[in-house]
Amino acid sequence: MSASDNHKNVYVLNQTNQLKGLFTIIRDRTKPRVSIYLDAELSSDTYSGNDYAVNDTIIRLIVEEGLNHLPVSPAQVTTAQNVKFDGVVFDGRICGVSIMRAGESMEQGLRDCCRSVRIGKILIQRDEESQEPVLHYKKLPEDIADRYVLLLDPMLATGGSAMCAMDVLIGMGCKQEQIIFLNVIASPEGLYNVHQRFPKIRIVTAVVDEGLDSKGYITPGLGDFGDIYFGTKA
Ligand code: URA
Repeated sequence: MSASDNHKNVYVLNQTNQLKGLFTIIRDRTKPRVSIYLDAELSSDTYSGNDYAVNDTIIRLIVEEGLNHLPVSPAQVTTAQNVKFDGVVFDGRICGVSIMRAGESMEQGLRDCCRSVRIGKILIQRDEESQEPVLHYKKLPEDIADRYVLLLDPMLATGGSAMCAMDVLIGMGCKQEQIIFLNVIASPEGLYNVHQRFPKIRIVTAVVDEGLDSKGYITPGLGDFGDIYFGTKA
């Protein structure tokens, strides 16, 4: 994990061959979806569990990194060897907030790490005329201002939806420092826009792509993440 060269508070996963291999599978337009989800085992002995889908594996790596940004306090325990071990315990409570629909793909990865985590939802859609993101629905934990918020959205394109969601969280009393935005693919434009407006919000992303095309899609990207994940496009 490295902080992005351009922005403080932007953290990009280490570009290991393992991560590149996973992206090579999910970015490949010739791969049938069933292959992404069922045969996505990489070389068979990379994982012992062998039932991880590629996207879920990437998401899990991002969630784990996001959790690394939570504050901890020292905690000492005694092991079965009757020896002291200097460990840590997490401070504070967390919740997830997914930006529907694609952000919902990241919920399971968060639940895998934090089983009883509360998860709120925000639905934002672009107004057809103005092209501005508009909030349509929100359901968030009432005490969200007292929690660290892991905001979930896999594709950071222009940053419009993410910033709209961040406005909602801040309107509910969350401080920027409490928000960690978890993302699969970011565009440089999106990182710039979010960071300019919310410099203290931490962004954890698996990869930063080249840019945006004329329709606002990330390039090289992978197309519509929600369609791929939920199988809504043939
Ligand atoms: N949302 C997507 O699903 N893909 C993009 O490339 C940009 C936004």
